[in-house]
Amino acid sequence: MHFDDLGLSAALVRAVADQGYNIPTPVQAQAIPAVLQGGDIMAAAQTGTGKTAGFTLPMLELLMRNRPEGRVRPVRALVLTPTRELTAQVQESITTYGKHLPLKSAVIFGGVGMQPQVQALRRGVDIVVATPGRLLDHMRQGTADLSRVEILVLDEADRMLDMGFIHDIKKVIAALPKVRQNLLFSATFSDDIRKLAQGMLKQPTEITVARRNTAAESVQQTVYSVGRDAKRPLLSRLIREGDWRQVLVFTRTKHGANRLAEFLERDGLPAAAIHGNKSQTARTRALSEFKRGGVRVLVATDIAARGLDIDQLPHVVNFELPNVPEDYVHRIGRTGRAGNGGDALSLVCVDELKLLNGIEKLLKRELPREVFPGFEPDPREKPQPLVRKPAGRGRAGGGGPNRGRNAGAGRRPNA
Ligand code: AMP
Repeated sequence: MHFDDLGLSAALVRAVADQGYNIPTPVQAQAIPAVLQGGDIMAAAQTGTGKTAGFTLPMLELLMRNRPEGRVRPVRALVLTPTRELTAQVQESITTYGKHLPLKSAVIFGGVGMQPQVQALRRGVDIVVATPGRLLDHMRQGTADLSRVEILVLDEADRMLDMGFIHDIKKVIAALPKVRQNLLFSATFSDDIRKLAQGMLKQPTEITVARRNTAAESVQQTVYSVGRDAKRPLLSRLIREGDWRQVLVFTRTKHGANRLAEFLERDGLPAAAIHGNKSQTARTRALSEFKRGGVRVLVATDIAARGLDIDQLPHVVNFELPNVPEDYVHRIGRTGRAGNGGDALSLVCVDELKLLNGIEKLLKRELPREVFPGFEPDPREKPQPLVRKPAGRGRAGGGGPNRGRNAGAGRRPNA
């Protein structure tokens, strides 16, 4: 599923792509089409699940579809949030995703002067993002007109109830048109939330997404069985077919990292290798190019990856399985972004079956094995011993935190 499958217009899809997001998170995949259909929704989704874009994107889309004629800009969407910080975050999303659209928004919260907010409202805005108390102040003094609101969003509704906003919320709702679309987001569906929802939502679509999990639980792990020499072309193929823009690939050796990066470069995929033999400057440059999007594939050894300051990534590939099963867990912990699960693929050839067993023992489960059509391994291929020296353990004699584990590699019969 991609963002262009959800019914959003090109301007919004482009703004999302500008953020580097290709795949909608589960809450987005469910909420966006439901909101675009015009119905009410009630979504259980925590911060970190991508919920903000889950309501912001379809809200912007609907506002664009039904723009009124003329110069007046009535407030047509209202987002209520519990805190000033959250209003700011929501408005940032509106600005980010609405950057190609002619819509305007304002934030309203307490603890600051009324006057700048009054002026913003007077100039005309399509969307107001507000905390309930200050919004009521504006309504009382006649500086906020909510009589044309089409969409109401309650963000973090459970927190708003915890903070005692229920009466304020009800007063605000009473001033809105009876016919409108309601979107309620809450980390949990407590009894109080259900009561609020009952009085306010019409046959809502209920959406529940998994809580933000530890990486290992939310990461989709797949093993591709593949011939030893077919790994590189398979990786190229996977990157292209999945249109992966940022992928971190692990190899066991520094030499292997270099060779793989060179292969990918030659194949037209911008790639860089980082490992213990590269200077700090070279590593920093590779990393910043990767973050910027100039380098699409970063190939790293385990040790070099340890120190990497990068956010969670959508795709991690084990080009070769690590010597030590725990390294597998560290590697896949690099993915699992925004509760989106993330995707960890391992390319495994006949030489690595013992390593795979060790990993499965550690995880206490079997990993699903797949074969990519056209890359079926030859069942006659015989195992060969793996490279003796573990990858990226620093320069000769280098100690480092992992020195103790080097000895562990000796336990394996083929090490
Ligand atoms: P939220 O749950 O709305 O607070 O979002 C959590 C974080 O996920 C924010 O930093 C978003 O920018 C990011 N995010 C939102 N949608 C996506 C997506 N489809 N893919 C990756 N990250 C996303």
